[in-house]
Amino acid sequence: MEHNILLCVDRDGTLIYDDHYFLGKDNYWKSKVKILPKIVEGMKLLDKTFPNCICRFILSNQPGVAIQDFKRLTLKRANDVCKEVALIFKRKGAFFDGCIICPHVSLDYVKKHPEYNFDKKYVQKECNCFKPNIGMIEDALAKKKLDKKNTYIYVIGDRESDILTALNAKGVGILVPFEKNLEELEKVKDLKNKYPKQVFIAKDFLGAIQCVIDKERE
Ligand SMILES: [Mg+2]
Ligand SMILES: [Zn+2]
Repeated sequence: MEHNILLCVDRDGTLIYDDHYFLGKDNYWKSKVKILPKIVEGMKLLDKTFPNCICRFILSNQPGVAIQDFKRLTLKRANDVCKEVALIFKRKGAFFDGCIICPHVSLDYVKKHPEYNFDKKYVQKECNCFKPNIGMIEDALAKKKLDKKNTYIYVIGDRESDILTALNAKGVGILVPFEKNLEELEKVKDLKNKYPKQVFIAKDFLGAIQCVIDKERE
């Protein structure tokens, strides 16, 4: 194969159960990390199929870092949660090259959440990394010194914003619907009609990986 593959995987609702509780905001967060099914199988299959040319990153929007009311959910804590998730998978034989998070919130987000106090440092008019922006993908490419022109980008996630991130990066987005975010499925169905060659919906993570493999074999 002449190109590289960059696989970007969302964290909450894709790799682990998403309870909308801003994982990491309290001291007992480790016991709340619950991994979702078929990920280990999927990652192992991907590595076996493309042993030499694949990089895999966890990309996660973490607006909780910007919320001052969550005193314990610092940037460091948010990174620790990601590292712990990666470690849990590593122990099971599924490897990620790294985790990248966006700790920022937009002015829009601030307006939508009057119940919280925000740390000004993380409030940005426009940040390049909050999905569906592609800053975290660019970071991943840079970390692995991958040439964008020679890299096929895949994003697996449970939200429309994950799929839009893929489209913005001229890659392929694969939705794995999460039981609590089913309104996202309807939005992505519309996107799939518009971009049938770039948007896919899989029933689980293994199905998403199968979709990557099929796409590569086209
Ligand atoms: Mg998610
Ligand atoms: Zn950001």
